[in-house]
Amino acid sequence: MRNKEVNKFADRVLVGGVNSPVRAFTCVGGKPIPIQRGRGSKIYDYDGRQYLDYVLSFGALILGHSRPEVIKGIKNAAGFGVGFGATNISEVVLAKRIQETIPLIKKIRFVSSGTEAVMGAIRLARGVTGKNKIIKFKGSYHGHADYLLKNAGSGLATLGLPASKGVPNDFIRHTLIARYGDAKQIDKIFARFGSDIAAVIVEPVGGNDGVILPDKTFLKYLRKQTKKFNALLIFDEVITGFRFHYGSAATYFGMQPDIICLGKIIGGGLPIGAYGASKKIMDHLAPLGGVYQASTFSGNPIVMKAGINTLKVLSSLKNNYKYTKKATAYLVQSISSEAYKHGIDLTIKHFASMFSIRFKNKDYFKIFHRQLLNKEIYLAPSEHESNFLSFAHTNKDIEKTISAVKNALIFLAKRKVKYGKCRL
Ligand code: PLP
Repeated sequence: MRNKEVNKFADRVLVGGVNSPVRAFTCVGGKPIPIQRGRGSKIYDYDGRQYLDYVLSFGALILGHSRPEVIKGIKNAAGFGVGFGATNISEVVLAKRIQETIPLIKKIRFVSSGTEAVMGAIRLARGVTGKNKIIKFKGSYHGHADYLLKNAGSGLATLGLPASKGVPNDFIRHTLIARYGDAKQIDKIFARFGSDIAAVIVEPVGGNDGVILPDKTFLKYLRKQTKKFNALLIFDEVITGFRFHYGSAATYFGMQPDIICLGKIIGGGLPIGAYGASKKIMDHLAPLGGVYQASTFSGNPIVMKAGINTLKVLSSLKNNYKYTKKATAYLVQSISSEAYKHGIDLTIKHFASMFSIRFKNKDYFKIFHRQLLNKEIYLAPSEHESNFLSFAHTNKDIEKTISAVKNALIFLAKRKVKYGKCRL
């Protein structure tokens, strides 16, 4: 099958031809590119074209595609059976690895997505504190639970939606929205609702409204205020866990949240989520405590093995974190200076191996994105999403990207193409 046929087929049986909205290329225009396979830093479509991948399964594949150790682990594990609904040694081994790496996690619960991890963490925080309300930040995304789909960053922003239909107002009654970095607003919210705030949830580095740079002073302030009002501080590290160094962003910043949510990288590209905290907090979960959370596929042995092998490789290649950080800085500096040279107004935000690009002219991103695709560079199909580098990206890949970016910027500078507004 060729791309066209896959898309046609997908349009008939999947909603919008996709299983997650941003994949539909709604705001970059054109048909999405169906992907058949991936290896290292590259993905390949059904027409046999290759692309340098900066999406990397939305940040999950820090080792790149089809890393041999991970694939071998998956195959071996599958040979023993694909799931049992009972404790398996791989769950314990992955838990132990994470516990040894992220000191504040004394106990962990595995689930099958970041969404479930956050839902579990928030229910736990409510159960522990006996309070109802949570504070989240505008533009942050914590998965698609009803009460979190309010000002929820990339997916909704890509489609120009303020919130999801189908979520009753009653369900978001306990979700308070704050501006990231605004300590005064936090004070006001705590002054008014403090006695009923169970938790503040924050991405330590935002990845869902482009990259949102960390404000350490603000994060520390959140720690102080949550302690003062007996609320829990939850770090949503579904993206940031193991992304900047071998461990959590909390450790990277010297912070002590109460609960950490993980996902993406710790499953080596297979569906995973996890949340962990002190024994005292975690033991509120059933079967020991009264906070119920359960799932058929939690701790699946194949997923666990992919996670173990990913963390094993990461821990043996810790220096590569420095390389991806340097390579990202070089890439974004080159893009900035090319943009400046060609009179294109854009903002690039980056942190370690994450980056995002936003043009002042709202019509430019889709043209830029298509131009890069033409040169075999695959960026996230929305400027609200973050892009990622993996350990598999080489200097040659970076140079190829810079050259493609240069061409795309020249194209933009030469033609003042006016594209219509993004249709929903
Ligand atoms: N939290 C953050 C910070 C995320 O970026 C995401 C997904 O991108 C989630 C939670 C939800 O994770 P999942 O898509 O695995 O449900």
